[in-house]
Amino acid sequence: MKPIIVVHHHEIGLKGKNRNYFEKQLLKNVRTALTGLVHSHLIGGGYGRFVISLESNQNNIDEIIDKLKRVFGLSNICFGMEVEQSIDAFNSIALELLKDKKFNSLCVRTKRANKNFPLTSVEINEAVGGFLCEKFNVRADMKNADETVYIEIANQTAYVYLSKIQGAGGLPAGISGKVVSLTSAGFDSPVASYRLMKRGARVIFVHFHSFPYVSRNSIDQVKGIVGKLTQYQYKSKLYLVPFAEFQQDVVLKTPMPLRVLLYRRMMVRAAEKIALREKANALVTGESVGQVASQTLRNIRVVNDAAKLPILRPLAGSDKEEIIQIAREIGTHNISMQPYDDCCSFLTPRNPDTWADSDAVIEAETRLDIAGWVKRLVENSEVEEFQFPN
Ligand code: ATP
Ligand code: MG
Repeated sequence: MKPIIVVHHHEIGLKGKNRNYFEKQLLKNVRTALTGLVHSHLIGGGYGRFVISLESNQNNIDEIIDKLKRVFGLSNICFGMEVEQSIDAFNSIALELLKDKKFNSLCVRTKRANKNFPLTSVEINEAVGGFLCEKFNVRADMKNADETVYIEIANQTAYVYLSKIQGAGGLPAGISGKVVSLTSAGFDSPVASYRLMKRGARVIFVHFHSFPYVSRNSIDQVKGIVGKLTQYQYKSKLYLVPFAEFQQDVVLKTPMPLRVLLYRRMMVRAAEKIALREKANALVTGESVGQVASQTLRNIRVVNDAAKLPILRPLAGSDKEEIIQIAREIGTHNISMQPYDDCCSFLTPRNPDTWADSDAVIEAETRLDIAGWVKRLVENSEVEEFQFPN
């Protein structure tokens, strides 16, 4: 008898080759997430779930569960025991697992991979369910039970476990390809990146900063944010792009109300060049329609026109409170809350144009060496790598 954790896959509607790929990547991610806690050869499985074998005296179960909660692609996390294949063993383990729980109804669900076991799944459900309902004086409920006991009869062994902890859902990190996220130290862009990671995208981060004309705050904060987010994708790359010289050129040559849009269009262009270099298929921003003056639909359109790659805006329809709630859950909130020098407030008017005239923007850009700047910005950027666990 040994403790185990069983994790079930999310969105197993996927079929054929995709499903194999999904499972392989998910297994790899679970093993990475548990580096240093559980040896990778103790994590295995298939058939829509993995089994993690623990030591009888394992004392870091809470930490293991905590790590598993951040693995995208898992629908739930169940704690239980590996036991011999007998009704007596199922009964006594289920009794032990349920003993401190409060519940009025119970359901037992059995799966049999080994068809040699003398009872059918339904007969096992009835035998164990009958025993437990009598012991705890509760009723059987196959649809809406307070507690469910799962029994799995594998080839040599059996697993008995309860389902309780909800997994992160989504798709395994890395299976959807790469995106480049324009990341500031604010609340929104880290949450936007998280949303894309949850759909299986590997996020490459790009931050534009005005150091040394302003402090390093925004750089340090973005590094902290990328560190937090790397917990969900295990490996990250951050491009730090020095933006101040371009901004000075803009200030010298273009009218004030257009400047924020000119900065944004240049950010999008440089990010696109990085995306092509990294073989990423899309850009990501934290824009939310109407949240600030620079994010009117009209301005979003003018910024959008600067790139050919799709720009994903997972927060387009989210309110600030929803965004902040997620930022709290993923641990970026306290970092974003710190004051920082945003490159867009460096040399920028307080009230940018809310209804940009794209002809005026394009005309202003004829005064700047756009292609030269894109090239220089990317060439002058520094790249930093992050790893989790580190
Ligand atoms: P955030 O909280 O993400 O900073 P925000 O509400 O402050 O968003 P803006 O500052 O107008 O909005 O920025 C809109 C989007 O442009 C950001 O979500 C981000 O994707 C991108 N962006 C803004 N500043 C930077 C920067 N310095 N580096 C990289 N991307 C940026
Ligand atoms: Mg911002």
